[in-house]
Amino acid sequence: MRTLRDPAEMQSWALEQRRVGHSIGLVPTMGFLHDGHLSLVKKARASADLVCVSIFVNPTQFGPNEDFSTYPRDWERDEALCRQAGVDLIFAPAPEAVYAADASVSVVEKRLATRLCGASRPGHFEGVCTVVAKLFNLTQPTFAVFGEKDAQQLRIIRRMVRDLNIPVEIVSGPIVRESDGLAMSSRNARLRSDERGQAVCLRRALDTVESAFARGERSADALRSAALAEIARAPLARVDYVDLVDDVTLEPVSRIEAPVLCALAVHFPSARLIDNAVLKG
Ligand code: AMP
Repeated sequence: MRTLRDPAEMQSWALEQRRVGHSIGLVPTMGFLHDGHLSLVKKARASADLVCVSIFVNPTQFGPNEDFSTYPRDWERDEALCRQAGVDLIFAPAPEAVYAADASVSVVEKRLATRLCGASRPGHFEGVCTVVAKLFNLTQPTFAVFGEKDAQQLRIIRRMVRDLNIPVEIVSGPIVRESDGLAMSSRNARLRSDERGQAVCLRRALDTVESAFARGERSADALRSAALAEIARAPLARVDYVDLVDDVTLEPVSRIEAPVLCALAVHFPSARLIDNAVLKG
């Protein structure tokens, strides 16, 4: 397994691999790897000649009051996990190598990115789209694998690839969870033990929504209230949003007819957590 930190070296390696006919599967991450990330690596390993994992805590997708500087990092552990998982190359550049000091071009998705996390994290998806476009240019992937945990991100990346004709296939992998149902996330490591105990309220809220939906409830208001009541049982949880939106447009719905994404974001004192489920009629 190789590690490259220099974007120019990364790009020439990738161009050469593609020139000789190798496929490249990219798994973009911010590191502090867990089984959710590794499930995506496994998926890439199953069909790519070469698997590249990028590890880059991207400063431009964090707001001024967000957790860029305290985002968990553990290079040695990440490297060992990648080696065990059969990764061929880690691309781990420094922020200064990725962004010119006077960089003035970015990628903006103007519709989906205004909803859900985009409403509470202004500029977040501009940072995400820009870095993903740059990672695609630098690692020249045949396909890239993203987790359904970040449902809005996945939909925005698919839209970016469609609207900019980027020749990269976007593959998705299901949400990997802890045994109590909490979606795995690098940020879970920051939860204190009392917060960790209550963090299962996100999955419980989604369970409540899914069972009410299975019993025939089709009113978005009723489903949303059921989710909010479940989260209210966790005293340390403060809801950012609980929304039921069209799975494609991310526009709010009042009745569940076409597939609907039920997405939620909840603040705990030490971390903001997200989770989601798709309701299909
Ligand atoms: P991150 O390092 O949090 O930016 O995530 C990198 C990639 O891993 C993204 O495509 C995420 O959606 C995906 N991912 C993160 N957590 C999970 C999880 N619990 N299950 C599946 N994929 C995940």
